[in-house]
Amino acid sequence: ALPSVGPGQILPFAATRHPDKIGLVVGDRRLTYRELDHLSDGVAASLRARNIGPGDVVSLYGQNSAEWIVSYHGALKAGAVVNPVNVMLTGPELSYVLSDCGAKAVFAGAAQADTVEGALQAVASVELFCVFDGPGGAHENAVPWAEFLDSASDTSAPSAPKVTPKDLCCIGYTSGTTGHPKGAMQTHQAVLLNCALTATMHGRRDDDIVVTALPAAHVYGNVAINSTFLAGGTVVLMERFDAGQALRLIGTENATMFEGVPAMYSMMLADPSFETAELSSLRKSTIGGQTFSPSLAERWQARVAGPVLELWGMTEIAGLGTTHSLYAPPVPGSIGVSLPGIEIKIAPIDGSVGEVPVGTPGELTVRGPLVMLGYHRRPDATAEVLSPDGWLRTGDVAYVDDTGHHFVVDRLKDMILTAGYNVYPAEIERVISSHPQVTMVAIGKRPDEVKGEVAVAYIVAAPDSDLDATIISEYCRVHLAAYKRPREVVFVDALPTTSSGKLMRRKLTELDPTFTR
Ligand code: ATP
Ligand code: MG
Repeated sequence: ALPSVGPGQILPFAATRHPDKIGLVVGDRRLTYRELDHLSDGVAASLRARNIGPGDVVSLYGQNSAEWIVSYHGALKAGAVVNPVNVMLTGPELSYVLSDCGAKAVFAGAAQADTVEGALQAVASVELFCVFDGPGGAHENAVPWAEFLDSASDTSAPSAPKVTPKDLCCIGYTSGTTGHPKGAMQTHQAVLLNCALTATMHGRRDDDIVVTALPAAHVYGNVAINSTFLAGGTVVLMERFDAGQALRLIGTENATMFEGVPAMYSMMLADPSFETAELSSLRKSTIGGQTFSPSLAERWQARVAGPVLELWGMTEIAGLGTTHSLYAPPVPGSIGVSLPGIEIKIAPIDGSVGEVPVGTPGELTVRGPLVMLGYHRRPDATAEVLSPDGWLRTGDVAYVDDTGHHFVVDRLKDMILTAGYNVYPAEIERVISSHPQVTMVAIGKRPDEVKGEVAVAYIVAAPDSDLDATIISEYCRVHLAAYKRPREVVFVDALPTTSSGKLMRRKLTELDPTFTR
């Protein structure tokens, strides 16, 4: 039957329709939907044999892998709550997440086993620590994957646990781009609906072959994977991103779709193999997760067929909130239209109630079945963003045009208040990144006695360039109003990013030699 409750029903559905079709390719493994469904049944049965089930939290900590995917689906089939954890988190951060959500089981990649072992010393709730196969997997206190799967006495499909659409499905921690990660409590309905609506908007079909390196633990990755499963297509999942390998896989797998964050597109465009890569099978691409320069999408578009569909989303709504549809002409620079059934309101920036007129920037605010129940064990943080009548303040500044297309300006927190003006880093970044000798740029801010705050540009210069601060200042003088121009230029080797490749603006100050708090 068509899934009606939650994402745990996606694999059984796909396995009924396309049992022998390849649903997942990771490295040299190719798994059919029957195998994916069967393996996740095994995980569910083994979890239940260990008395882990409805209401219990199962954490997943590892690079993208087939085991990760079947553990996610198996945990849901067992009625448990999943907690996908960003693999870049360090031991203490992992400890924090595991205790915060009271994890009862942890699944980890072999390479992460030591970190988990250390983190577990501070987490009393964990009863099962299972390590996926691989070097380092034979860990002292861990149950190896194969042994775990043997623990089910009865490997027949476990009886359907009683979950309802509004029950807690997933505690997804936010990327921590702007502060400490918070556990967004997503319902079964929100996760399933997000996948279903995204599949529809992107025209996902059973002949789609989607190449992605997005982390499965992140909402964008989760939606890319599970909306493709829902449509019965094939996911070619990279363990981690590598530009040359991504370009190669598109050709060898005959990919119809690529999905990634802006940094992945920049790296592919800069890769020596880009010009000669075989990309003719691509019909569509998606991009999102952070602001980027429109020239990035244009340069990709110049080389591949089909549209580049920009999307916007966040952990608090279990995935996407807006995207372009495959069936309407894209509007460049826009994050698209709201998913069907999702209300969007642009609220005044100062936090007062009401709505601002078309074309005026305000805070993007969302209501509907995708919105989280709240942040796990954080009633104050929840009350700050979620109003009693169901509106979620996203912290993003955006405006809408008269065709219903939305445009993100920047994050409210990143806005620079200088001499009474609101300056958005994304605008300055767009200008500076258009300089041919700039590989990457990020704008941070620094307190200033006279102006309140001033912008600082952090620049990764192109190899062998003779770029200096004067050239950048001159360039900004031509393209930006005086109050928007960065006060200082700092050249760096790399910019701080999250595991999904997002720029961490709050970490920029660590690169600034002159910064004093
Ligand atoms: P934290 O909330 O912990 O600071 P985060 O906001 O980065 O981290 P996510 O939920 O992964 O955590 O990301 C959602 C945010 O990503 C959005 O609120 C928005 O700021 C940004 N974002 C997503 N898509 C886009 C896009 N297309 N354009 C601009 N920004 C985007
Ligand atoms: Mg956020």
